[in-house]
Amino acid sequence: MKTKIIVIICLLSAAISCSKKPEIPGIMIFNYGSIPQTEIETVSGTRIYIDVADPQMVIKPPKAGDILLITHSHHPDHYNSVFADSFPGKKLIAEEGKIEDAGYKITGLKALHNTGDQYLSKGGTDYIFLIEADGVKIAHFGDIGQEKFTEEQLPFLKGLDVALMQFENQYSGMPAGSDKGYNLMKEIQPKIIIPTHIQDVSIKKACGIWKPYFSVKNGVKITKDILPGSTSFILMGYNGSIYSKELNAQQWDN
Ligand SMILES: [Zn+2]
Ligand SMILES: [Zn+2]
Repeated sequence: MKTKIIVIICLLSAAISCSKKPEIPGIMIFNYGSIPQTEIETVSGTRIYIDVADPQMVIKPPKAGDILLITHSHHPDHYNSVFADSFPGKKLIAEEGKIEDAGYKITGLKALHNTGDQYLSKGGTDYIFLIEADGVKIAHFGDIGQEKFTEEQLPFLKGLDVALMQFENQYSGMPAGSDKGYNLMKEIQPKIIIPTHIQDVSIKKACGIWKPYFSVKNGVKITKDILPGSTSFILMGYNGSIYSKELNAQQWDN
């Protein structure tokens, strides 16, 4: 009798552990929605901080092995000198360059904040940062305001999985309703777009072009295996809770 009970208990606990969804490791992207400030954490725990303008909004304090990337330092919504100067890890501040280590590769590419600006390797008006880690390719475009990608940029952006991209920014010649940001994304067709500078009109326009998802949390997990087949648009944090119903967005499964 005693053995029978033990066997039943063993079978029951096995059944319970099988029904539990296994935790798949993935790269985490944190963004509050509608702002450029972003944190990315690789599976091995390296944290990449991008355009930190408000240190009080930083989710996890940086450590020596972490990285700071600034797309441009002449606008205060992308840069905080106190945070940047005291950052304990490697950094690229409005410049081209490479940071590589076991498990990740980061590339800074010169870009333009506005039509007519100059492409400069250092101190230019905008930089694209490409982050390749855990089989996922992510790019943060800062306040990109060029009309098209250049022949030099395009090979780096081929096969892009996630784009952190702006769609509405008067300082980049990108007013509400402008096609500039959408045209750039159509050129490279990333699998996922997470908007940075965006407001009502542009959110609705984007959700009419790409399949909308939402996350009420400020973080989404991305793994190579769950990338959508066609371009999807993820509304995060504040925008996720505000627009999910109206735009019939599907919840992003973290
Ligand atoms: Zn700017
Ligand atoms: Zn900006």
